[in-house]
Amino acid sequence: MDKKTLSILVCPKCQSKLEFDKNTQELICQNDQLAYPIKDGIPVMLVEEARSLAATKDDKDSE
Ligand SMILES: [Zn+2]
Repeated sequence: MDKKTLSILVCPKCQSKLEFDKNTQELICQNDQLAYPIKDGIPVMLVEEARSLAATKDDKDSE
């Protein structure tokens, strides 16, 4: 995952820039609290595939 590739990637949901998490090998959208997986070096930019980082909280779907 090179920095150039990362810089062009945006969240498909909110179009914000993503952060690469080295530990989990995921792309993080801080805005939505979603983590997009990277499969075989290819980022999976699908909201349906993303892991919710806010899942530990009890207030789901509160906007
Ligand atoms: Zn987002």
